[in-house]
Amino acid sequence: MDNYAEQMIESFHRAPKKIITYPGGVTMVTRQDKPELQFDDCHKPSWFDQYESLFIACQHCNGHLSFITAEAPFRHK
Ligand SMILES: [Zn+2]
Repeated sequence: MDNYAEQMIESFHRAPKKIITYPGGVTMVTRQDKPELQFDDCHKPSWFDQYESLFIACQHCNGHLSFITAEAPFRHK
């Protein structure tokens, strides 16, 4: 394993973590802000700053996403 990978793993272990449950799964993230996006098919949480363009599709299932708003909050279950 190279140095960069070791540093990434080390900082991940040190960072405060938050567990987000969603229908069909659970994910652990090191950021504390609420998800801004949720995919319609696999329900994974996501954030705008994970994408370089506005053409956003899920990296796992290529699904479409929903914006999370007060009226349409994140679907945990
Ligand atoms: Zn997906």
